[in-house]
Amino acid sequence: MKIGFIGLGNMGAPMAKNLSEAGHDVFGYDIAQISLHGIQQVGNLEGASRGMEVVITMLPNGTILKDVYKEIVTFGSKNAIFIDCSTVDVESAVTVAQLAKLNDIQPFDAPVSGGVVGAEAGTLTFMAGGDETTFDIIKPLFELMGQKAVLCGKNGAGQAAKICNNMILGVSMIAVCEAFALADELHLDRQKMFDVVSTSSGQCWSLNTYCPAAGIGPMSPSDNDYKPGFASDLMLKDLTLAQTAANSKNVFTPMGNHAQKLYSDFIAKDGSGIDFSGIINFIKNNSRTTP
Ligand code: NAD
Repeated sequence: MKIGFIGLGNMGAPMAKNLSEAGHDVFGYDIAQISLHGIQQVGNLEGASRGMEVVITMLPNGTILKDVYKEIVTFGSKNAIFIDCSTVDVESAVTVAQLAKLNDIQPFDAPVSGGVVGAEAGTLTFMAGGDETTFDIIKPLFELMGQKAVLCGKNGAGQAAKICNNMILGVSMIAVCEAFALADELHLDRQKMFDVVSTSSGQCWSLNTYCPAAGIGPMSPSDNDYKPGFASDLMLKDLTLAQTAANSKNVFTPMGNHAQKLYSDFIAKDGSGIDFSGIINFIKNNSRTTP
């Protein structure tokens, strides 16, 4: 397939490479002029969208996505498929989908879970929103970049799934960090705590797979000085998207709201650029009397 790939950053670059290594003709564009082995670099958005069967975007946020779409829909071929894999707000996803449809382009939102490691290994999970028939056409592409793709519903449903998942993740990571902080003060050995909780009712991905305490459980960023992994800044972004959605629909999400505040405080202190599991140190360095 002839595929345009826009946004060749930490995630986009390995995803584009996986498509190209599987034999697709990939035309890449990044505003930072990133060039990658195996990807045909083009100099502008037109080069990455005109004449393409599929155009994939992997961009930082909804504002940039909307600006990019305003241009690329004018170059897109009739019946081309545009897939946005960025994490953005549901409203932006629906807006760009409408724009694409007005130009006879089939749109999908398909944010991912699995981080840079998953993008490199081709083991991402895609949460897609869009038309069922078109989904069958693009599924093989998801299978090259990931291990699972779920069609969640109409345009915007993929982003809805992503922010709900990451709201759970942010809250559960904080809960696990609080439990380790408390266990430490109760003189409970961290390994024993892991052995019990990872097989008891407190088990969750944040503990079992991505333990924030170093030296315990499978290898995770805590074993690498909290180098991301998944940066706390991106977690704050996703928690903020969840709160924006919850506000717009008047949904009571007190834990998600508090998680957003804690990540914001962590980042304001020294958490920017640190893996999101590094919030364990922020929690341990505060006391009940800290405002
Ligand atoms: P990144 O900042 O590394 O990459 C984004 C790229 O987009 C950059 O290279 C930037 O130069 C490019 N860009 C910005 N504006 C552009 C424009 N107008 N035209 C063309 N290129 C432009 O970010 P990332 O980590 O690759 O994340 C991309 C998206 O994936 C984000 O929405 C993020 O929330 C989501 N995501 C990231 C992770 C992760 O672990 N990094 C995990 C899941 C989802």
